[in-house]
Amino acid sequence: MSDDVKEIEDQEEGQIEIPSTLPLLPVRDIVIFPYMILPLFVGREVSIKAIDDALSGNRMILLVAQKDLNTDNPEPADIYDIGTVGMIMRMLKLPDGRIKILVQGIAKAKIDEYIQTDPYFQVKITRLVDTTFEKLTLEQEALMRNVKEQLEKMVSFGKMILPDIMVIVENLEDPGKLADLVASNLGLKVETAQEVLEIEDSTERLKKVTEILSKEIDLLATQQRIQSEARGEIDKTQREYFLREQLKAIQKELGEEDERIEELNDLRTKIEEAKMPEKVNKEALKQLKRLERMHQDAAEASMVRTYIEWLVELPWSKSTTDNLDIKAAKKVLDADHYDLEKIKERILEYLGVRKLKEKMKGPILCFVGPPGVGKTSLGKSIARSLGREFVRISLGGVRDEAEIRGHRRTYIGALPGRIIQGIKQAGSNNPVFMLDEADKIGADFRGDPSAALLEVLDPEQNNSFSDHYIGVPFDLSNVMFITTANQMDPIPSALKDRMEVIALSGYTEEEKMGIAKNYLVKRQLEEHGINEKHLNLSDSTLKKIISSYTREAGVRNLEREIANLCRKVARKVAEGEDRSFRITADNLHKYLGPPKFMHEEEQEKDQVGVSTGLAWTEVGGEILFIESTIIKGKGGLTITGHLGEVMKESAQAAMSYVRSKAKELGLNEDTFANIDVHVHVPAGAIPKDGPSAGIAMATSLASALTNRPIGKDVAMTGEVTLRGRVLPIGGLKEKALAARRAGIKTVIIPKENQKDLEEIPKNIRKTLNFVPVETMDEVLAVALKAKAEEPGVAEKASAVVANA
Ligand code: ADP
Repeated sequence: MSDDVKEIEDQEEGQIEIPSTLPLLPVRDIVIFPYMILPLFVGREVSIKAIDDALSGNRMILLVAQKDLNTDNPEPADIYDIGTVGMIMRMLKLPDGRIKILVQGIAKAKIDEYIQTDPYFQVKITRLVDTTFEKLTLEQEALMRNVKEQLEKMVSFGKMILPDIMVIVENLEDPGKLADLVASNLGLKVETAQEVLEIEDSTERLKKVTEILSKEIDLLATQQRIQSEARGEIDKTQREYFLREQLKAIQKELGEEDERIEELNDLRTKIEEAKMPEKVNKEALKQLKRLERMHQDAAEASMVRTYIEWLVELPWSKSTTDNLDIKAAKKVLDADHYDLEKIKERILEYLGVRKLKEKMKGPILCFVGPPGVGKTSLGKSIARSLGREFVRISLGGVRDEAEIRGHRRTYIGALPGRIIQGIKQAGSNNPVFMLDEADKIGADFRGDPSAALLEVLDPEQNNSFSDHYIGVPFDLSNVMFITTANQMDPIPSALKDRMEVIALSGYTEEEKMGIAKNYLVKRQLEEHGINEKHLNLSDSTLKKIISSYTREAGVRNLEREIANLCRKVARKVAEGEDRSFRITADNLHKYLGPPKFMHEEEQEKDQVGVSTGLAWTEVGGEILFIESTIIKGKGGLTITGHLGEVMKESAQAAMSYVRSKAKELGLNEDTFANIDVHVHVPAGAIPKDGPSAGIAMATSLASALTNRPIGKDVAMTGEVTLRGRVLPIGGLKEKALAARRAGIKTVIIPKENQKDLEEIPKNIRKTLNFVPVETMDEVLAVALKAKAEEPGVAEKASAVVANA
């Protein structure tokens, strides 16, 4: 125990004499401990009298808590037995008759007996004094340290305890005093405090205080947790609210609130101006109302906004007036396209019918042909001649119905389908609408796009086309749809039924010359800002570009190469060389690089086992070489060259045919058991399929087996049956053009295709010798030449078999 504290103790306990009889003041709601100083308000008559008595003597009074604070006139039984002797330090009479005293606790005392109860209590007391310790036990030390720490913890939890008290507590070294001081500052309930007060043993008292403290700490911790949880809940919603309010304030400050109102007004005007059908108008206004109610930055608001914008931007009632002057239309078509007379005729007829019958529910035009033959540009010309807008979308690779019809708005990032997008792009509700690559639509688990397309193209249904995104019907009945395709076959047949096919075939070299001279060169010169004076391309130059730099059915690459030349010249002109550039067939390579194609297809001489077939691919006609070779073996057939299933089967059929004809071909039937046959179609990068190479394969096989060469300038096309009948094929014109490009002289064709010869330009018909056939025998008669001198493998094998 420190000397200071001891001194105070001596002063207080030692020096102050406490009489054995004292007036008693029952206290209602607090237990007073020694050393406490506190004000008390006193109103009851008994109490005032007791105070008067004390003041008239040594100012001392016994302060004891009463058991129930509601008891107004307590009897001795209502008052606890132990209290604290207090010294009245100051007294103040209040105007309302009560008095206020300031008392300080001095020492604990026990009531022995009530000497007087009227007019105030007088009691006999025994003073209770704590034992003093010379040296504290370990337990007492620990207890004291614990209490001090607990108190600090409580402060950290937010319990209000005066800093002065904390300092005193820190320095106290007496368990009893510590217990009293802490207990008196915790604001305990009367019963609890009284319990502490009554414990005589100071160590026990301190233990009780620890117990109370830890309970209090638990209580505080729980209280804090509950509070913070509750705050968390409120915080979240409140935070958002506050942030929004703040944002609003900022927006207002920045003038954005005005902007929002302006935007909404703007949308409203746009809705009015869009002159939508009533149903659509209603929907638009409904969505606008929703938007007004939403917070500007909510994710949904931007969705609704985009939707309204789509609605107002669609040309619900905007249309162009048709110019149905057929003569003018013809002029436009002629101005844009070389030749194509039949097709132009057909288009003009179509427009003529339209003129007479305004709402024509006629078929949809479908341009079929290889790339670069002018399908798109015809569409554009039609639009130009009618005075309509032109839009074009590609159906290539469309596998999902939603690409045609759009996604429902519930999907994030949903948009209308391609049809509605095209219409918006056109800006009028009656454009010429070109659907490219109708032969390249696919169908899979995501739905069949062609079903949606059918609805678009069907004049009975398309006046109320429903897009999933737009959600309200749009009238497509004034749109003039034109489809394009490279080939007819892959187009779904339901679609095919709706269409009127106009076939455009590849161009001959002469036609290409005409197109280049009259259209492409002029157009490219103009596009590059130069003129004929700068660049003059002679016929021979153009011919060289066509034959050595392009190999195509259309004129797309031709146009590209011409553009290439123009660009190079334009650059030189721009650099200051304002002169005429002479590009001839001889110096062309300086501008375009070395020739990209040669007539390498032309064979050097007649060969055994190599026949020339004709194929029709989506890029036009092609010639194919079919090679067969015989090796010793066990009767196998190998087919290579990246062939499709149909073509492989066709090869097998050809093989079977040749085997069945062994005798006629001069072969021993058993020969086949001792040889292997390999059929190969080179240029494996080009996928090849279809039955039309049948007779070429059979010829190649027959040639290899009989060792008779095939004429190098003979090409053939036709399907073959097992019995050797030759069946008709398609794309004769394209094939003829390819044969011509490859320098072929004779073309064997199925007899049934003879009627198609008419489509072939006269000059080609003149240069090519077409031989119509019905059977394989006729084919071989034309194609096979006399036997080669050296005997072939098959012959040798045949001879071996014969000799055996
Ligand atoms: P497609 O749509 O058939 O693939 P494009 O219409 O794109 O072909 O034609 C390619 C280019 O060739 C265009 O610039 C087009 O004007 C031009 N073209 C094609 N055929 C002709 C023609 N008969 N007369 C004039 N230009 C043509």
